[in-house]
Amino acid sequence: MVYDPENIFAKILRGELPCDKVFEDDTVLAFRDIRPMTPVHVLVIPKGPYVSLDDFSANASDAEIVGFYRAVGNIARDLGVLKDGCRFLANTGEDARQEVPHFHMHIFAGRDLGSMIKRV
Ligand code: 5GP
Repeated sequence: MVYDPENIFAKILRGELPCDKVFEDDTVLAFRDIRPMTPVHVLVIPKGPYVSLDDFSANASDAEIVGFYRAVGNIARDLGVLKDGCRFLANTGEDARQEVPHFHMHIFAGRDLGSMIKRV
């Protein structure tokens, strides 16, 4: 899949749309989800143009990958959600209903999150 520079997170990265920022460094931006599903719902994104975890893991530099996953852990720690627990989730592709085609990691926390996935 080709990266679409007009996706909503690309616009946030360019400052064309606002966000409720939680963290930023050279390679990572984290902000609160606009439609939170849990009391704490943060999205962590790389600044590079990666469509999905598939694209990111295959094509990002080692520095970007290390920076991203260190940031995810640090952000969760700073949010204070690791004591009671939280869920990290990266929807990838159609079956997972990935809505925004820019790689992002959800951090869900702040209540009992239930079982991992609904059985059908
Ligand atoms: P996905 O389904 O792709 O894993 O999740 C995309 C997430 O992005 C959704 O939880 C949705 O609420 C969030 N989202 C969509 N548009 C915006 C926006 O403009 N700002 C913010 N902060 N979050 C957004």
